[in-house]
Amino acid sequence: MSQKPKRTKSGSAWMHEHVTDPYVKKAQQDGYRSRAAYKLLEIDKRDHLLHPGMTVVDLGAAPGSWCQVAVQKIKRQGRVLAIDLLPVAPMPGVDGLEGDFTEPATLAWLEEKLQSGRVDLVLSDMAPNISGVMLRDQARHYELCELALDFAVNWLKPDGAFLVKVFQGVGFEDFRARMREAFQQVMIRKPDASRGRSAEVYLLGRHLLAARVPARDDGVTSPQD
Ligand code: SAM
Repeated sequence: MSQKPKRTKSGSAWMHEHVTDPYVKKAQQDGYRSRAAYKLLEIDKRDHLLHPGMTVVDLGAAPGSWCQVAVQKIKRQGRVLAIDLLPVAPMPGVDGLEGDFTEPATLAWLEEKLQSGRVDLVLSDMAPNISGVMLRDQARHYELCELALDFAVNWLKPDGAFLVKVFQGVGFEDFRARMREAFQQVMIRKPDASRGRSAEVYLLGRHLLAARVPARDDGVTSPQD
């Protein structure tokens, strides 16, 4: 998990890093809600994930910098569905729900919104609050990753993509193996904007090996049909 410098009574180490972080300054200048924007921008520059007209699902979206990047790239023809435990301040082009992705009601909301079609890109930057107990935190994080992967497998278009934040360590190889069962290509990305001391990396899966849900707009039928 991310190892933040210990907060002293004055909080000086963390605060010093925060205020001197070039990406924090740049985000303020560029009008992004957080420095995380540059992680997605960097990955997109390399992997060309975002295109006009896309449907994007952003899991763990608050405060909303990935939504901002997605909206800029998909333009008016596309749409972003955003989920977070915390509110995402309204943004044109983004339909957001303040909800827990582990709750059935949240999935039901997404399914209701998506009834006219599948998704081009699923983003998951979800990270649970850290308890400090490393193994427990890793396990909770990978539970979220598994749920996000299940959602991606069920709702992506066959040529869709899934970008998910993971932490190297316990659970990483198992999850990467699951990604390889689901996608033709699975790549690791560590953008410069992701702090070097953090175990955080992103896994990018592209091209589903098997689409599982009947598409409502592409004529594919499911095995149950
Ligand atoms: N990508 C975001 C951006 O660019 O602004 C930053 C995301 S932040 C690193 C991680 C987010 O995951 C937090 O806002 C947190 O509330 C959210 N999160 C954690 N657990 C969640 C859950 N079970 N359901 C929905 N969101 C969750």
